[in-house]
Amino acid sequence: MPEQLIIGAGLSGLVAAITLARKGRRVRVLEKYATIGGQPERWPAVDVTPMISGAISRYLDIPIGEPQVKPCKLLNGYFWGNRLELPIAGSNLCCVERGPRGTALDLYLYSIAESLGVRFEFETPVMGQGQLANLPPDTIVATGLYAEPFDALGIPYQMGWCYASKGTSDRDAEAAVYFNDYTTDYAYWSSTNGIDFVFLFRRGPISSGELKDFERELEHTEGRGVTEWLSGYGPTPTVRFSNPRLFAADKILAGTISGMMEPFALFGVHGALVSGKIAAMAVEDRNAAWVEFRRCLTTWRRMLLNRKIYERLPESARRRTVVGFTNTLGALGPDLGARVLSGAFHAVPGYHHVRECAARDS
Ligand SMILES: Cc1cc2nc3c(=O)[nH]c(=O)nc-3n(C[C@H](O)[C@H](O)[C@H](O)COP(=O)(O)OP(=O)(O)OC[C@H]3O[C@@H](n4cnc5c(N)ncnc54)[C@H](O)[C@@H]3O)c2cc1C
Repeated sequence: MPEQLIIGAGLSGLVAAITLARKGRRVRVLEKYATIGGQPERWPAVDVTPMISGAISRYLDIPIGEPQVKPCKLLNGYFWGNRLELPIAGSNLCCVERGPRGTALDLYLYSIAESLGVRFEFETPVMGQGQLANLPPDTIVATGLYAEPFDALGIPYQMGWCYASKGTSDRDAEAAVYFNDYTTDYAYWSSTNGIDFVFLFRRGPISSGELKDFERELEHTEGRGVTEWLSGYGPTPTVRFSNPRLFAADKILAGTISGMMEPFALFGVHGALVSGKIAAMAVEDRNAAWVEFRRCLTTWRRMLLNRKIYERLPESARRRTVVGFTNTLGALGPDLGARVLSGAFHAVPGYHHVRECAARDS
């Protein structure tokens, strides 16, 4: 059996590597950076995502749970200054530690892959069209939020700008989300395993005045001051209705580059895990993998349309929409509110499908 090549040692690449190694394949992963999880300045970080730990563990056949993935205990929402504790109990919202620490999901998956004999080559970026084209057919491209592979494979994207801040925290598995004039997307603060992470982003540039406005609100609401911001930008695969794709030329795609990102809130963790398994499936059976891929994205186009409408609304209408929706959630009370919220999570790639598979198999 020929060696299987995977580009990118992130969530989707690692799941693909584990799945293929378990089938007895020789697997080699080429990673751009020297450490697991990619760009070292970014880590450790805390991502927030809908995820049903039991269901995804069964789907991937990889136990996923604490301390890497923890149910979120508290989610404060600040919607143009109105505070609301969002009804998340039982809604399957989780805090996920990312990066190279022992408690991070990336390192956890890497350890499993390594124990299965997967070979890793760090500081080995695959750049440019020529280099990619020279890789064997069915190479899995799992390069995440980096523009070069999108360009090399001709995949459309929209640039997102962000500011992040890392810190320590004695709060655990708590988060806050912010909607306000400083972004047409949103910002969040989240904590887990003794660390916290602040993130403001927008599919468009963010001015220094807007950053200051968010900084003030964060300090005023959650008491989190920021001494240093890390700025960055990266591609989001949420610009065309044709963005989701499992194949590009003779390569197989996984994770963000395959479009497995929820178009409204840009939740990418769940889709990355699921698509790692689907990419591995595609190595053996392209048609079966394509069917599975589409099952994970049934509401994707509708969500992209919603997003396109939302970002074109005047600011006052955006505000009315978000404040109206969240006030309704609050008025429904904890149980019904959480059920409505988790209904909205069905738009997260693979969330509904993974849940259905788990229910069917139990
Ligand atoms: C700051 C930030 C905050 C986020 N917050 C959330 C959140 O709260 N919730 C959520 O659900 N999602 C969030 N996301 C999105 C989520 O992190 C991604 O969708 C997810 O990691 C995608 O997984 P992936 O496997 O596609 O890529 P990644 O996990 O990013 O892995 C890609 C890997 O490929 C490597 N690579 C890149 N280019 C090359 C190359 N040319 N050659 C070799 N290797 C390469 C990278 O170094 C990296 O290791 C966030 C993203 C960012 C940047």
